[in-house]
Amino acid sequence: MYDVTIIGAGASGVMCALALKEKDKNLKVLLLEKNDKLGKKLSITGNGRCNLGNINTDISNFNSKSDLSNFKKNLETRNFEFLNKLDNLNNLESYYDYLIRFGVLLTKEKEYLYPYSMQAVSVCKSFERCLNPLNVEIKYNYDVSKVSKKADVFTINDDIKSKVVVVATGGKSYPKTGSTGKGYNILKSFGHTITDLYPSLTQLKTNYKYIKDLQGVRVNAKVSLCVNEKIETKENGQVQFTKEALSGICIFNLSRNVGKYIKENKKVKIIIDLIPNYDQFGLVEYLKSFSSYSIVDALSCVINNKLSFVISKELGFANKKMEDLTKVQLENVCFALKNMCFNITGTGDFETAQVTNGGASLDEFDCNLQSIKCKDLYAIGEVIDVDGKCGGYNLSWAFTSAIIVSDGILKK
Ligand SMILES: Cc1cc2nc3c(=O)[nH]c(=O)nc-3n(C[C@H](O)[C@H](O)[C@H](O)COP(=O)(O)OP(=O)(O)OC[C@H]3O[C@@H](n4cnc5c(N)ncnc54)[C@H](O)[C@@H]3O)c2cc1C
Repeated sequence: MYDVTIIGAGASGVMCALALKEKDKNLKVLLLEKNDKLGKKLSITGNGRCNLGNINTDISNFNSKSDLSNFKKNLETRNFEFLNKLDNLNNLESYYDYLIRFGVLLTKEKEYLYPYSMQAVSVCKSFERCLNPLNVEIKYNYDVSKVSKKADVFTINDDIKSKVVVVATGGKSYPKTGSTGKGYNILKSFGHTITDLYPSLTQLKTNYKYIKDLQGVRVNAKVSLCVNEKIETKENGQVQFTKEALSGICIFNLSRNVGKYIKENKKVKIIIDLIPNYDQFGLVEYLKSFSSYSIVDALSCVINNKLSFVISKELGFANKKMEDLTKVQLENVCFALKNMCFNITGTGDFETAQVTNGGASLDEFDCNLQSIKCKDLYAIGEVIDVDGKCGGYNLSWAFTSAIIVSDGILKK
């Protein structure tokens, strides 16, 4: 009989196992993983560099249908700083401390935290190295499909017995790394509510007439998400155009609720300001000096030439010269540069999305992330309805939730 069995050896599961054993060497901890190695997703994070966290972490970077500020308040009563602000790597607290103790040295690039090696695989290696000396038992190639409980004892797949179970199976995103959404069924079987699930941090599909012509273009822009004709959020950053979609980190961040809006038949648009550093008036003055140029050539002096061609075509000016434009037409060109509009028809799928929006309702877990439906059942990481923006927030939730649970189990 195990004291604690953790299902899933991803970011949250491994952190939970290490934290438990570090604090109580006598605890019998079992880690179950369906893959033949730990951290398959962790090893590809951050484009292989693993963005472990963000020094500007605060609650506004996270999404949940539950009230996260309430959860945060409950945690503070336990003296646990869930979303700590760090401005200095010498002032390490909470999960950063654990990362270092488990062999992951940290470095910072702008506000983003990375392993010192700048390699995600080295985080997996450090974790792996710590499992053995801490005597964490790990079974690979073990796929959990059923968990039941009788007389205070959990049975996993009819053969493993445990006093406590932690579900750390991840969400539904990037299923080829092992997170296929089975954890939701396990939690459902104990009466948990699983909120609607949507791909998040993913590309946005568009029916824009000329999208194919823009394939491969990258621009630094100011981007607005417009829902039912109202601007909901803005992001600055690089937009990448593919043959049927908009991509790039700022689009990923704007994608978080788009699946839901589309399901609700809301009208979703992305509006791109291609030249955020200049106002429309300044652009009019600037373009006036190109009077002998064709419009395409004039615009190509400020934006990517594929974009200048598409904008001129869309306005019906492709064959005109700048000097042929009336004042209003010139203003329309400048308006288009600052308000390029794309109707959004869908998001990328779970195969390519970085995280899952939605999951096991946080309201059904106490401040130790113990189920209120079933004593001694816990959940951590992406399987819970909490997701973050790009920038290290999702791993910070995975690690922090793991530590919350390890503390909670040991306090019993
Ligand atoms: C391409 C990509 C890049 C990313 N980059 C970043 C980044 O730089 N920074 C950041 O903060 N976040 C990033 N994320 C998100 C982050 O990786 C996840 O949010 C995080 O890994 C979730 O941790 P987890 O432990 O909940 O789940 P996972 O890491 O998905 O781990 C779950 C584990 O459970 C196992 N499992 C599932 N079901 C079962 C079962 N039934 N039986 C046994 N084992 C099971 C899986 O095989 C898997 O190993 C990225 C995601 C992707 C896809």
